[in-house]
Amino acid sequence: MKQQKYYTFLQKQILLMIGLSLIPGFVYVIFGWVFDVLLPAVLWYISLILASLYGWYLYKDFAAHKMTEEQLRRWYTKLTWFMYIIFSSWTVIFVLYIGHDEYNLHYIAIFTQLGASVVASALLVSDKKLFVPILLTLMLPLSLYFFFIDTWYGYVLSIFSLVFVSVLLYASYNTNRLLQDNYYQAQHDVLTGLYNRRYFMEYMESLQERLHERSEPAYLFLIDLDHFKTINDSLGHDVGDKLLIEVSRRLDRYVNQTHMLARLGGDEFILVSKDLHTAKTLTDQSAYDFATGVLEMIRSPYIIDKHHLYISASIGVHQLNTSSLYGTNFIKEVDIALYEAKAQGRDGVIVFNKDLAERVERHLLIEQKLYHAINEKKIEVYYQPQFDKNEQIIGCEALARWKDNDLGNLSPAEFIPISENTGLIIELGYYILKETFEVLQGWNEKGRILQSFSINVSMRQLLNEKFIENVGALMKIYGLPLKNPEQKIIFEITEHVFAEDISKVVVTMNALKALGISFSIDDFGTGYSSLSYLRELPIDEVKIDRSFILHLDESKKSKSMISTIITVAKNFNLTVVAEGIETPEQLDFLMKQNCDVCQGFYFEEALHQDAFKEKYLTETGLQSRFMGLKSHPQDA
Ligand code: C2E
Ligand code: MG
Ligand code: MG
Repeated sequence: MKQQKYYTFLQKQILLMIGLSLIPGFVYVIFGWVFDVLLPAVLWYISLILASLYGWYLYKDFAAHKMTEEQLRRWYTKLTWFMYIIFSSWTVIFVLYIGHDEYNLHYIAIFTQLGASVVASALLVSDKKLFVPILLTLMLPLSLYFFFIDTWYGYVLSIFSLVFVSVLLYASYNTNRLLQDNYYQAQHDVLTGLYNRRYFMEYMESLQERLHERSEPAYLFLIDLDHFKTINDSLGHDVGDKLLIEVSRRLDRYVNQTHMLARLGGDEFILVSKDLHTAKTLTDQSAYDFATGVLEMIRSPYIIDKHHLYISASIGVHQLNTSSLYGTNFIKEVDIALYEAKAQGRDGVIVFNKDLAERVERHLLIEQKLYHAINEKKIEVYYQPQFDKNEQIIGCEALARWKDNDLGNLSPAEFIPISENTGLIIELGYYILKETFEVLQGWNEKGRILQSFSINVSMRQLLNEKFIENVGALMKIYGLPLKNPEQKIIFEITEHVFAEDISKVVVTMNALKALGISFSIDDFGTGYSSLSYLRELPIDEVKIDRSFILHLDESKKSKSMISTIITVAKNFNLTVVAEGIETPEQLDFLMKQNCDVCQGFYFEEALHQDAFKEKYLTETGLQSRFMGLKSHPQDA
């Protein structure tokens, strides 16, 4: 398809041609009057006016961005006829005046024909379909005229005019090719030959206009190949390039002209329905099905340079609507859908919807507010007590809490991952460490010594180059570790993030151990549980994940999982903590399994430091608590 700009260029030529026809044409009518050929000249001029009116109508009829491809094609055909007619009219006047050599009108006729040819080759150079036939209809009659003069100079002039038209054709043809090449390169991706980002953005501009006019839906599909980088890195860029070419070919075949397909860069492709009423993409469901088809096609195996490759893709789908039509919002929204598809484990399709938009908006808001929340100390630390087998308090876990005026109570499960992604976890983690150490020092100074004091530490925080130094400095400031060798400061690290650079983790952990820190594997049993972690990492404790305790009552598997974890941990001489205990039955089971430490809402939620101190670190508090606990059925 020709580009909008191209049609706009041709549209401008209409006005120029009307001007170049009507003004000199009028002079020809005067010649006709002076030299006695008025009637044919007037008739000719009237036909010129009619042709110009048709041109004017075409000029007005054109609205680049609002026309569909089909409408543009029809318009272009009409324009072709207009150009043929308007240029042919100069051949008509040539034929009319060329015979009048008694008044030397034939000189004017000859010049007219030469002039019109130059105008045609200059103005219509962008389109071969226009300039080739028009140049021939202008120059061949001239050449014939010279030939039939039947003198030696007539033959020479006839040949000259043929040479002249050949030169014009040659020059126009070359310029045209250069133009086409430039057009092509500006619009296409070099590697795959698909449209490029620039063309896509221009196309979207025109689509936006059309969508404003009509209310038919259009869908956008953003496709990103999963783990493409791994193929590039492991098999080389040659294989990567060939794979991209093959994917492009498949996509092109699949969409089969119904969609505009472009490569945005890297391994990212985009599709948008071309004809707004394409049946396949009318509803969210059909758009989803269409995208699933794309995904299946991408998934089928590739053989490239003897490598059998299997890849998948993540696809975001978004229905274009009036709100997403401003600027480049549509990209933002389909990108959100793609991001969600990636977040949900890749190899899938997500259609952008309101819920997703709200979630993302909340996510962004948290991201924006988090920085200030840390600086303005709006994030607090609460303490959830932990109990030993005799239900005596032995420790606590520090848990972050954030209450925001607009967002309400935010769970750390929500804002900690965001802070990890944005890097704010470094500041947040430091702040929490400082707060908790200060509280610990305060409690210790009052003589209420907890045996263990657990703090959650993110992997990103742990591997930060300054972490060891910061922990050391803070410990010094707050006089930790204490003289009491029994007290342990435990850093809890979530199991599922160990995956990456385990040796670096071990080095860091050992350095912190040297400072007096102990380690616990949090949420044990949920990640890529590997027994080798227990051997390789210098840990002291495992925390059985809450999900096993939660399903303990209904699931036999959870029970055997728990007893297996406890047996294994004991074999490694590790303390076992169970978290998320909510019922006496759960507690009963864990006690029987010889679990060392218990934590959960059955005992207590996380408390503000003052409430914690009041309830667990004063004589009166402890006494009243034991009165309360006595009522659980196990003791009955
Ligand atoms: P976690 O470390 O596994 O913490 C235990 C979570 O279980 C806490 O949720 C706690 O309130 C909750 N919980 C405890 N007992 C029960 C119970 O009986 N029933 C139920 N349903 N839940 C119980 P919370 O405070 O929302 O924390 C969620 C996660 O956020 C934590 O999981 C931890 O991974 C992370 N987190 C919390 N504070 C921090 C922090 O200061 N730094 C870092 N890096 N992560 C933190
Ligand atoms: Mg924890
Ligand atoms: Mg946990």
